[in-house]
Amino acid sequence: MSGESSQRIYNFSPGPAVLPLPVLEQVQRDLLCLPGKGVSILEMSHRDKAFIDILDATQAGLRKLLGIPENYKILFLQGGSRLQFSMVPMNLLRGEGRSADYVLTGTWGKSAQKEALREGQVRVAWDGAATKYDRLPPAAELSFDPSAAYVHLTSNETIEGVQFLCEPDTGNVPIVADCSSDFLCRPLPIEKYGLIYACAQKNAGPSGVTIVIIRDDLLAAGADSLPGYLNFRSHADENSLWNTPPTFAIYVVKLVVDWLLNDIGGLSAMYDRNVEKAGLLYEVLDESPQFYKGHAQRDSRSIMNVTFRLPDADTEKAFLAEADRRKLGNLKGHRSVGGIRASIYNAMPRDGVLALRDFMREFRAGR
Ligand SMILES: *Cc1c(COP(=O)(O)O)cnc(C)c1O
Repeated sequence: MSGESSQRIYNFSPGPAVLPLPVLEQVQRDLLCLPGKGVSILEMSHRDKAFIDILDATQAGLRKLLGIPENYKILFLQGGSRLQFSMVPMNLLRGEGRSADYVLTGTWGKSAQKEALREGQVRVAWDGAATKYDRLPPAAELSFDPSAAYVHLTSNETIEGVQFLCEPDTGNVPIVADCSSDFLCRPLPIEKYGLIYACAQKNAGPSGVTIVIIRDDLLAAGADSLPGYLNFRSHADENSLWNTPPTFAIYVVKLVVDWLLNDIGGLSAMYDRNVEKAGLLYEVLDESPQFYKGHAQRDSRSIMNVTFRLPDADTEKAFLAEADRRKLGNLKGHRSVGGIRASIYNAMPRDGVLALRDFMREFRAGR
């Protein structure tokens, strides 16, 4: 590293979060002028062929990474995942007699359900509130309404650190998943999903763009009376160019996708790295459960957000202050739950996780 990049800390921010250094370097290199195009990505029409090529390449890269079949569209929208909390039920739930099942494994799932209630009939299929969202539902506790329009789940609860690493069996009911904080962390069996949405700023790029992957038959569900922007069909019919899309954010997502394909070698390789990285931290929690008390139960642990508490608030404060001195930044837990949260997304280097692991052992030994 040289220049400003030598000042970079290990950034455990939950989002917007760390990006791969080669991606930032390319953004910097090409910011004044995209090679051969005469203008920068920030100054180019979204109808310019150079941008359309970037858009197409981003879609093609995502299709390749995730093995997305032809009968799914990939959309680039704005409004973040929170807009999807509303847009999904507006499109799939409005209308007579429809109901949707929501699986609540944490704060984000609960927020999604709250917005869906404004749009139609919602059934809570499972709610982990009783144990403060520290676990996933075992199959025996799940039963779905076979006539539901969809089953909504949050693949990774960013705040509590609870993650689905395989899909629950929902029969013929399509899964709609909020994959905001673990999109591209592992291969996904796309055929099990009707719709996937993910704001980019956790694991896939900068803030400003939300990726939606939607199966063709679900595109038909939105009523023509919906406002244009809020109907998935507007965006699908115009290849995400119905209005001006977030061009810069899409460009950075493309660079992240290229990084995953070319530098990492695809999502299986990324997944192996993520499992290994998370294991380094969970090992420390498991060797000293009195000192580092993990929030998530073992079989529900996230490989993206490792959440834990220390014996008391003063010790947590001292931990965070000392971590900052060692350039291990942004480890404070979400304001609603407190404690510590180490977000170790795809772009967090293994060296960063090793540095945190070593610090955790040292800090404990010094108490
Ligand atoms: C961050 C996050 C959101 C909210 O995303 P916005 O882009 O801020 O609307 C929703 N769901 C999950 C799982 C998240 O991690």
